[in-house]
Amino acid sequence: MPPISNRVTSLPPYLFSVFQQKKKLLESQGVDVIDLGIGAPDLPTPAFIIDQLAKEAKKPANHVYSSYNGCQEFRQAVAGFYNRTYQVELDPDTEILALIGSKEGLAHMATAVLNPGETALVPDPGYPVYRSAVHLAGGTTTYLPLDAADNYRPLFDHVSKADWNNASLMFLNYPGNPTAATVDRSVFDEAVTFAKKHNVALLHDAAYSALTYDGYQAPSVLESNGAKDIAVEFGSLSKSFNMTGWRIGYVAGNRELIKALSIVKSNTDTSQFLPVQKAGAAALMSDFSAVKENIAVYEKRMSIMLEALRELGIKVAKPRGTFFIWAPVPEGITSSAFAERMLEEAGVIITPGIAFGPSGDKYFRISLSVGEERLREAAERMKVLNSKER
Ligand SMILES: *Cc1c(COP(=O)(O)O)cnc(C)c1O
Repeated sequence: MPPISNRVTSLPPYLFSVFQQKKKLLESQGVDVIDLGIGAPDLPTPAFIIDQLAKEAKKPANHVYSSYNGCQEFRQAVAGFYNRTYQVELDPDTEILALIGSKEGLAHMATAVLNPGETALVPDPGYPVYRSAVHLAGGTTTYLPLDAADNYRPLFDHVSKADWNNASLMFLNYPGNPTAATVDRSVFDEAVTFAKKHNVALLHDAAYSALTYDGYQAPSVLESNGAKDIAVEFGSLSKSFNMTGWRIGYVAGNRELIKALSIVKSNTDTSQFLPVQKAGAAALMSDFSAVKENIAVYEKRMSIMLEALRELGIKVAKPRGTFFIWAPVPEGITSSAFAERMLEEAGVIITPGIAFGPSGDKYFRISLSVGEERLREAAERMKVLNSKER
């Protein structure tokens, strides 16, 4: 066995790949598995984006390296999006960077900010990449508690003074994965205040900002006063435009943080293929009607699943964003045991809340990433769990 770093060997396996292995095994035994665990859209990328890619791919001028920070057209499209949506002014040259998917940027930003041994505040429950990125960067994680009773609002004043003093980084994510929680501007105002007071870089992950329901518009952290002094926001086209495999995202905000990230990145990658960036620009400059069509699809699925859960005695309020349902597991069972029963007895994959942090263990996440028919079938099968004693 060749040498492997402790940083890598001490990382827990990416939970989603563990479930995919189990799924493969069951499928090889002929079990029809319905996968509500995948946090990605099943819908195709809108045609106008594919057309733009095809057009740009035919131009030899687009076959060369992109500039390190991404092409001008893409960065300007991001600036235009912020201006139209949030009335936030951004300089495309110094305050925006193209990313090879936002996950890449989130992970590399930990390397750009943290010195070994420094602390990052990571929401619990939260997207697992924050924690592993901090670990790979040589930092340590302190959980930022969220208030389950108040739509998973961060409890900034539950973080001890010592932890604030050790922290150099804080992640937030609204609309949130896995909780589907949304916030109003005041939460970001408070986050910026705390971040400035303790000199902590504030990284807001806005992967689901365009997937919202019932007239709710997700705020941007960059709308808050003084945000550009300490904060950046990560955006993604993956979830809103069904572009997960394309690998295109961006980060916007504080120029020192953007500069630091661009130094890490320019020593690691050379940005995304230009036609992908240009197709991404077309998506961001569009009227977002394609996103609205997606929202309509998810809303229908959401109501089917919420109704099914209600029949099972599991009450969940309709989320204002994301394509996730975050639901309590029945009394007296851990989330992993519940997920295992779901898979073994119903052939349905859901994600146990423990995958997202210790406080997630009383919950499970359903991803609305299959069509209505399959969702109804999954709901029907889930009743098996109710008919047996727990
Ligand atoms: C999917 C997801 C991402 C990553 O998206 P990419 O842009 O495809 O890398 C980031 N954050 C959260 C919370 C996600 O769910």
